[in-house]
Amino acid sequence: MPTISQLLSDSIRDVPDFPKPGILFKDISPILSDPALLRHSMNELTATSGGQKIDKVVGIDARGFIFAAPVALNLEAGFVPVRKKGKLPWQTHEMAYSLEYGENIVEIHKDAIQPGESVLLIDDLLATGGTAAAAIKLIKQLDANLVAASFLIELTDLNGRELLGDTPVNAIISY
Ligand code: AMP
Repeated sequence: MPTISQLLSDSIRDVPDFPKPGILFKDISPILSDPALLRHSMNELTATSGGQKIDKVVGIDARGFIFAAPVALNLEAGFVPVRKKGKLPWQTHEMAYSLEYGENIVEIHKDAIQPGESVLLIDDLLATGGTAAAAIKLIKQLDANLVAASFLIELTDLNGRELLGDTPVNAIISY
């Protein structure tokens, strides 16, 4: 019997040279379109809270949202988006970062998390770690207690974990 991680891993589609030459894009569409795989991925990410009380699940724009909102429901927590610059309507904190293919700025609403609240950060994929590191800085700026950062996929060769400091990092699938 394959493990859940193997089932998920076998379903991911590798798309070479997307969105730029040299990038091997990990396409999660086959997981999203399969009800059982979708549920497995939500459940695995939910379990990364380790049973700790979570007040807010933060999801990163845009594929992180797909997983973070259902995980928030599972944990009876709220959902908070970290978005690319210019998308959030209220007052924000912003953080610049570089990613595997380009430069970006992410934002969070200033009132999205209260000081001392426990937070689980979720994204679909950890590559260089730049995006997650920026999100972690924003979460810490709001004086939250970051419990862990959890990813469906980790590209281990890129050492993204090293950028995330002392934040515990979980990945369901590693390549
Ligand atoms: P990074 O900041 O380098 O860790 O990049 C992580 C972000 O970029 C995530 O939000 C991913 O959705 C996206 N990303 C980076 N590299 C890839 C890849 N090879 N396949 C799919 N998504 C990627």
